[in-house]
Amino acid sequence: MKSSTTTLVHTRADLAAALDAADGEIAVVMTMGALHEGHRQLMRVARERSAFVVVTVFVNPLQFGPNEDYEKYPRTLDDDLVACRAEGVDLVFAPGRDDVYPHGAPSITMHPGELGEILEGASRPGHFSGMLTVVEKLLLLTRADVAYFGEKDFQQLALIRRMARDLELPVEIVGVPTVREKDGLALSSRNRYLSPEERLAALALSRALREGAAHRDADAVLAAAHKILAEEPGVRVDYLALTGADLGPAPQEGPARLLVAAKVGTTRLIDNVSLTLQRGA
Ligand code: AMP
Repeated sequence: MKSSTTTLVHTRADLAAALDAADGEIAVVMTMGALHEGHRQLMRVARERSAFVVVTVFVNPLQFGPNEDYEKYPRTLDDDLVACRAEGVDLVFAPGRDDVYPHGAPSITMHPGELGEILEGASRPGHFSGMLTVVEKLLLLTRADVAYFGEKDFQQLALIRRMARDLELPVEIVGVPTVREKDGLALSSRNRYLSPEERLAALALSRALREGAAHRDADAVLAAAHKILAEEPGVRVDYLALTGADLGPAPQEGPARLLVAAKVGTTRLIDNVSLTLQRGA
């Protein structure tokens, strides 16, 4: 059922007051704004199930490295509100830095463990610690019963699931499949940085994953994906990795994940797909 009004709050006091008035299951969709169809799909899935849907819009300084795009990250709150209204969201929490970190940068933060050291964690030191720290804070501040995250950020989703499990957080974590453009490009707020030429080059990421996932043999999967990426000079690959569905070592047979990260111009993009491996296929 769609609610008729979407309330915008900025402070934790106003958030608490709005939540005091809420009834039933609370769902949260956490975002950094610049909302697109991927975010909207998360809202729709949340709206279908939960009585009260909260969207957070916060560009978290803690999860950006010193040479990353924190300053230039798109901030489009007016448009974001329009999207949230259209999806029947009940409450938008768009805090400032001081609302989330009233005591300055926290001295106690989340440690993501081994799973946080591979792939994105290896390329972006500190990213997952900052991400998990803000997710934990926002889960508590929004009093979420259920939280929705995209498979687009597959390692992030896996880490959040593990944080909830390992730290007994009273919340259900739900993953939502990646939303793509018709031509395969995974939707991302960072796609708006791409020039038309770069956008064309960026298609190599999803194409490589698709071609790779068409195979069953691990070597063939990687060879097919590598070939596509090597043919696109506009793409500088950070990693292409074949893992188990839990991001552990790839099995010889069964569910697996193929993940890629690359720079196109100055924009860093990530994508991943599921696949099934079969020995000797
Ligand atoms: P972000 O604003 O990039 O931090 O993303 C907020 C949430 O939206 C995260 O759970 C992302 O995984 C999810 N998300 C971003 N892009 C997509 C997409 N193309 N499809 C599905 N979920 C997405």
